Amino acid sequence: MTAPLHQRHRAVLPQWLALYYREPLELTHGEGRHVFDAQGRRYLDFFGGILTTMTAHALPEVTKAIADQAGRILHTSTLYLDRHMVELAERIAALSGIPDARVFFTTSGTEANDAALLLATTHRRSNQILAMRNSYHGRSFSTVGITGNSAWSPTSLSPLQTLYLHGAVRSSGPYAHLDDRRFIEACVADLEDMLGQAHGNVAALIAEPVQGVGGFTAPPDGLYAAFRQVLDRHGILWISDEVQTGWGRTGDHFWGWQAHAGNGPPDLLTFAKGIGNGMAIGGVVARAEVMNCLEANSISTFGGSPVTMAAGLANLGHLLENDLQGNARRVGGLLLERLRAAAAGLAVVREVRGRGLMIGVELAGAEAAGEALEVAREQGLLIGKGGRAGNVLRIAPPMSLTVAEAEEGAALLERTLRQVDGGERA
Ligand code: PMP
Repeated sequence: MTAPLHQRHRAVLPQWLALYYREPLELTHGEGRHVFDAQGRRYLDFFGGILTTMTAHALPEVTKAIADQAGRILHTSTLYLDRHMVELAERIAALSGIPDARVFFTTSGTEANDAALLLATTHRRSNQILAMRNSYHGRSFSTVGITGNSAWSPTSLSPLQTLYLHGAVRSSGPYAHLDDRRFIEACVADLEDMLGQAHGNVAALIAEPVQGVGGFTAPPDGLYAAFRQVLDRHGILWISDEVQTGWGRTGDHFWGWQAHAGNGPPDLLTFAKGIGNGMAIGGVVARAEVMNCLEANSISTFGGSPVTMAAGLANLGHLLENDLQGNARRVGGLLLERLRAAAAGLAVVREVRGRGLMIGVELAGAEAAGEALEVAREQGLLIGKGGRAGNVLRIAPPMSLTVAEAEEGAALLERTLRQVDGGERA
């Protein structure tokens, strides 16, 4: 008899490959905002596989685009012209807000940030990077070197020199007690101080407008605009990592950087996850002057492959035509309200925060969060986990979430939180 799948997984894959749940879950298919496991059990999906399901599971337009393209020519390489790649690049360039924008496609967020770092360090002739404490930017050699969250940064041997800044987490750290204006002032002073400690040129600041792995935490609006004023004086580039915050997920804005738009768009923007709705698409957008600073040729064999680009175009088209950003704002607002009400009076909940369909529920500790994940699953609800202490529940459903599904999920989460709260006290 063959061993259960999770044992075979453990036996052959790296031990550090994170896997959710005591009894790991095998998903076999999805439909709308729901997924089904190998036993046929249905779950309301409030995590979308870490925000990768942007619109809906098995969205017919995306499935059709993939099938059409796969039936023609699955993939050659990006050495040949392909209309899907050009069209998607045109759409993303126009949406990015970056003037004279150029787009380079990759196959992941890690690779997108890696490319952004290559561009910024080459353009500025510097290997010094400013990054935020508690950040996550990927798993490659370069991106672990700019990841502030040590739980996700397994080596300190990075070739980059990284200076970590305060500001991305509003509710803890030395400035947490200050009001928003003074919080921003203190963070700017910290940035100036760090620049005083740098060795000459600094290449770039990279930041997630809302930290994802860090636990859906955001600075006060305007922090990065205030940083930008200082960066501009030194010619330092601003890279906005929009891997989790892009495509209208935060409701009020299409990109997370727009909450910090005082001094215009970032110099570079990176994206991944949702745009492919499960297909491997990542990329970096930059002003032509920055993008074209590389002197040698470069190519990504699979980044921008026709089948993924066709999927991305269909997915983005659906998002825009159905105003899923507006939906994220409306339904996310309702969900936040419901969850705040559900959490009121529960000792186990420290904070419920969020924007659009990116909601974090901070609990008393990692144990409570782990328990909540298990209990939610038993109730038929999938959620995520994050935060530096592993104590934040992450809620980021597909952006087509309906009001009825939001109400249903909120009720399931309320039951979950009550059960965990009871357990804590017992
Ligand atoms: N940046 C951010 C903000 C992310 O959340 C992630 C993935 N969690 C990445 C980069 C890396 O993306 P990928 O896993 O596609 O390499």
